[in-house]
Amino acid sequence: MTGIQPGGQLVTTTDVENYPGFADVIQGPWLVEQMQAQAEHMGTRIVYDQIVSIETSSRPFRLIGDSGDHYLCDSLIFAAGAQAKWLGIPSEETFRGFGLSACATCDGFFFRGKRVAVVGGGNTAVEEALYLANIAGSVVLIHRRDTLRAERVLQDRLFANPKISVRWDSEIDSFVGTKNPDKLDGIILRQRNTGDLDRLEIDGVFIAIGHAPASALLQGKVDLHPDGYIKVQPGTTSTSVPGLFAAGDVADGVYRQAVTAAGLGCMAALEADRFLTIHAGRDQRVAREAIVA
Ligand code: NAP
Repeated sequence: MTGIQPGGQLVTTTDVENYPGFADVIQGPWLVEQMQAQAEHMGTRIVYDQIVSIETSSRPFRLIGDSGDHYLCDSLIFAAGAQAKWLGIPSEETFRGFGLSACATCDGFFFRGKRVAVVGGGNTAVEEALYLANIAGSVVLIHRRDTLRAERVLQDRLFANPKISVRWDSEIDSFVGTKNPDKLDGIILRQRNTGDLDRLEIDGVFIAIGHAPASALLQGKVDLHPDGYIKVQPGTTSTSVPGLFAAGDVADGVYRQAVTAAGLGCMAALEADRFLTIHAGRDQRVAREAIVA
């Protein structure tokens, strides 16, 4: 089963440099295409339906799709991934989609030759800043501390890029712009050490402050960590509900890489297979096995 963004975060990623087996940099959407082709080649049937409800208290599990269709399964691998986080400040809502985005590869081309800002200090923020520097006129990276969390190799590329500057110890106080039509044209920055505010003229802002796991469908149904990641038994993908396995970023708040997600997916498939062999019998397995991704 796959929802509105098949391939998840990988389809909005450009360069993938740490997936094993490729000496050259590969593109996220291309990797997803290859994975899908391989899965289909192995006989996987892909159903495009956004799952809106999962009932785990009775057997078989029941999933209800956006289409109204119901799906039954004896075992379920939940791999719904994670979604971009937003700052949560009031003016953010006003300008989302009108100069404010959480995906440079999706929206960067709107800002050719313009002034853009990226918020965050991790790998995603630095990658987005580097990507945008190829398109925009100038890029300012806004980070709330005085050191980046991003890997050294990315930091080196960032500091060497003449189009990119960094505003340290700074956070966005508010977004400003015009109304009707809504259009962002600046940000009010707060210097964290002094509390001083100043205005930066900016055409676009990209928020890159991490992701939240897409576990809402299982809230109250399986054990979750306080930050929303699904709890699994150490060294496995088993959740608190027998037969329900969790793989990828929805259950991994630490590594969150394509290769670790793929490895967890493999573990979940083996565990689901073993579960079905023991509890459901092979014939039922063929008819009633589902993966939500
Ligand atoms: P991340 O590593 O969690 O970094 C989030 C950044 O946003 C941090 O610098 C954090 O600041 C900042 N931040 C968080 N909340 C904020 C807020 N409310 N206001 C302002 N700043 C805020 O997230 P990520 O960069 O998305 O990376 C997630 C994972 O994916 C990581 O494991 C990363 O290695 C991986 N990743 C890998 C690649 C790659 O290998 N090519 C590419 C992208 C991502 P602090 O530093 O102060 O906490």
